[in-house]
Amino acid sequence: MEGTMRAMVLEEPRKLVLKHLPIPKPGPRDVLLKVRYAGICGSDFPIYKEGLFVPKLPQIIGHEASAVIVEKGEQVQGFEVGDRVTGTNIQFCGHCPACKATPAGEYAWGCENIAMLGLGFGVPGVFAEYFIIHDVIPGVSLFKISDTVDDLEAAMAEPMCTGAGWYSVPEPKSGDKIVILGAGIIGESVYQQLKDIPDLDIVMVDYSQLRLDIAKKMGVDHICNPSKDGDALDFVISLWGNKEFLYNYGDRVSGNADIVYECSGNAKAWAQAIQMAKPGGKVCTVGTCEGMAEISPQWIQLKQVQVLGGLYGGIGQSVEGINSGKLKVRDLATHVFPLEKLDEAFQVAMDSQRSMKVLIKVDPAAPDYPYNKQD
Ligand SMILES: [Zn+2]
Ligand SMILES: [Zn+2]
Repeated sequence: MEGTMRAMVLEEPRKLVLKHLPIPKPGPRDVLLKVRYAGICGSDFPIYKEGLFVPKLPQIIGHEASAVIVEKGEQVQGFEVGDRVTGTNIQFCGHCPACKATPAGEYAWGCENIAMLGLGFGVPGVFAEYFIIHDVIPGVSLFKISDTVDDLEAAMAEPMCTGAGWYSVPEPKSGDKIVILGAGIIGESVYQQLKDIPDLDIVMVDYSQLRLDIAKKMGVDHICNPSKDGDALDFVISLWGNKEFLYNYGDRVSGNADIVYECSGNAKAWAQAIQMAKPGGKVCTVGTCEGMAEISPQWIQLKQVQVLGGLYGGIGQSVEGINSGKLKVRDLATHVFPLEKLDEAFQVAMDSQRSMKVLIKVDPAAPDYPYNKQD
């Protein structure tokens, strides 16, 4: 496809500039996609603010989108021009030890450069009219969207994949007491996946009443806003008791949660996550934390808390969940901005008191949806 496209380029931290760039050309195993809606992710904040996570600036960032295939390479199977899709870039560098050790034709999942080749990180992202998904792997990096799902909902498949990948890692089971720190879309993605397990008791903690009100509407058992309801650890203890344990551990205060999912990305919440877990409980590092946390290693040692780290995503599961209607994403979108107002959209997205999911209507011809506030 010839011509130019509108793109918001992050030239340096906090400096987004509208540019008219050539529409990229897909290779034989690639698809060229026209963006309908794109989402701003919490992991875009460190890029926007400090230029972190990307190999270099300038870059077109953003990795959450719904789109339409406008051109496809001759080797791409299972998709046609005109298909409504969502996806992500999964590329293998070909020269790291893991890539070299992988036989030709197989996927080098251990590739050490896979993250840097991610959409909106090392390769141009979705805050532009067009983008490319390279080396398409059907059902892994590119997915069709059901006709029952609108473009705005489809743009939320990627963020919802975090919960889809993470929720089962600590092996939650019927009867568990669970704390989800952070009621943003990541916390919500974990919560909605947990709903299949019977008899869970779930607390969600956030300083944003707007986000907690959405959580309540989605069915969360208990919500706690520490700025109104007091300390979140006290809240958890008042609900499920103070789980005393053997060793002299400070004032021996410990929560009784089986599992704590840290989804807030707030380093301070991290310390509380370990205090909230029961002895032998599990704490999961779901959110992308900025800054440092002050944690006593004794909390982990003497309570025998298991800290589970990792980056898990299950975009196939979240697309399936959205396509089937199991995952309810419609009410999670609070704002929609046009592409040109991306900078303003970032300010709103970074203010958790004001917003939940902030979306960018990249294609002016895409439908508006009445259930969103238009800023
Ligand atoms: Zn994301
Ligand atoms: Zn590699």
